[in-house]
Amino acid sequence: MNRQLVWLRSDLRCADNPALHTALAKGPVIACFVLSPAQWQQHDDAACKVDFWLRNLTALQVELAALNIPLKLLDCPLWQDLPSALLCFCQQHEISAVHVNHEYPVNEQTRDARCAEALGQHGIGFYPQHGNALAAPGSVLTNAGGVFKVFSQFRKCLFKHWEISGTPTPLPYPQAQAPLPISSDAVPSQVAGFAKPSQALIDLWPAGSAAAHERLRQFTEQHLHAYKDQRDLPALPGTSQLSAYLVAGVLSLRQCLYSAQMANQGHYADGSAGAVHWISELIWREFYLHITAGYPRVSRHRAFRPETELVAWRDAPDDLAAWQQGRTGVPIVDAAMRQLLATGWMHNRLRMISAMFLTKNLLIDWREGERWFMQHLIDGDLAANNGGWQWSASTGTDAAPYFRVFNPVSQSQRNDPDGAFIRHWLPELNSLDNKAIHQPPQGLFAPSGYPAPIVDLASSRERAIAAFQALPKAS
Ligand code: FAD
Repeated sequence: MNRQLVWLRSDLRCADNPALHTALAKGPVIACFVLSPAQWQQHDDAACKVDFWLRNLTALQVELAALNIPLKLLDCPLWQDLPSALLCFCQQHEISAVHVNHEYPVNEQTRDARCAEALGQHGIGFYPQHGNALAAPGSVLTNAGGVFKVFSQFRKCLFKHWEISGTPTPLPYPQAQAPLPISSDAVPSQVAGFAKPSQALIDLWPAGSAAAHERLRQFTEQHLHAYKDQRDLPALPGTSQLSAYLVAGVLSLRQCLYSAQMANQGHYADGSAGAVHWISELIWREFYLHITAGYPRVSRHRAFRPETELVAWRDAPDDLAAWQQGRTGVPIVDAAMRQLLATGWMHNRLRMISAMFLTKNLLIDWREGERWFMQHLIDGDLAANNGGWQWSASTGTDAAPYFRVFNPVSQSQRNDPDGAFIRHWLPELNSLDNKAIHQPPQGLFAPSGYPAPIVDLASSRERAIAAFQALPKAS
């Protein structure tokens, strides 16, 4: 019978899906998705992210049905039981091989190794592919054979590979197979323990590959070439807002790279500055995937630079709560945090500003912020989130130097000059002029209903620098 199973995980797409492509070339295909709250609980995933994935799974089921591929759901309440549950499923459906696209955090790698072993003992093959990356982790290495720790060197090496073998191109859309006598399972609209988000949030993130490709098309046609100039301005729609689709694998990095190249006469390193810059951001995602695959301690939420484990972080629950709820008294930080709570997404410049504020001005452990972001982001992703937090906290690979602390007020003046973004999220500051909006007056003229700053920016900056200077030197 030679039946093949495609085990879908963070690759919820039919197009450019190497696992699906290979399986279809080998025999009749069934697809499955493991529906277990544990897979989301282990990463503290946001309810809006789980909802987004379920909606995308529903849309994918329709696409798979058009290819005559049934989608089965595997119920596995206990994560450690997955190898035996998968084996049982394979035996029940007479599967001879399982195809997946790699996931790189350490728990996922361990899970796959255990599944491969359990299946292998019964003669069922397990075939992983690097379908969500631009290049297989382990294939872009320093001359000494190590994983790059510096982004610019990583990108340079990746470009060298591309000069020789060309950029990776997306696989063609698969052809329908002959129908199988197997019915699909209905995808639930909710998973236990994860509340349904508001309809307003759901409407911001339409599900399915058609919606994702439409977003990509609109971005490349309308915003790509201005990306370099507009990407830091949160009041403008200057970035693609594709991260949630990339994290769920509704879109692949290859498809994004291909679209940007097509809009730039095939170039990736020159031509349109906007396109080149956007491709660089795609490569940041790739860089953190390679870091996660190469350094298991990242998945364990350990500091990338071990000496920074000794930073004397403050235990300040009230300050943490004020940051989480957007009540710090620093408008750009509060507007950012409220954008996160309302939309499940935050602009990249604001992620950097709010993360630096938490880790430097409030001197609170980056892991608190990392967890809060995961609990609220629709695009929560271990590799990118950990990378971003460790960059901001100066504990990570190629991170911001500890003495270069963002001043949130000057960041605000530069990137939201007329305060349009702040006004949108903090209507209580609407009456302030374009100067005062970045640093509201205190005392008699303080805007009502808005808190005074919970920290002095200048002295807290000095405190953070001192905390890093007190660390033992890296060996
Ligand atoms: P665009 O500007 O259009 O960029 C295109 C794509 O490139 C993004 O969709 C994303 O996949 C990738 N990308 C862009 N910048 C980065 C970056 N710095 N690191 C990694 N990939 C990048 N990104 C996530 O996908 N998930 C997260 O959980 C996440 N957490 C972050 C936490 C912090 C503290 C910081 C500083 C950054 C984080 N990022 C995260 C990276 C980045 O902020 C988002 O990818 C970006 O804001 C998504 O918006 P966009 O799709 O409009 O990006």
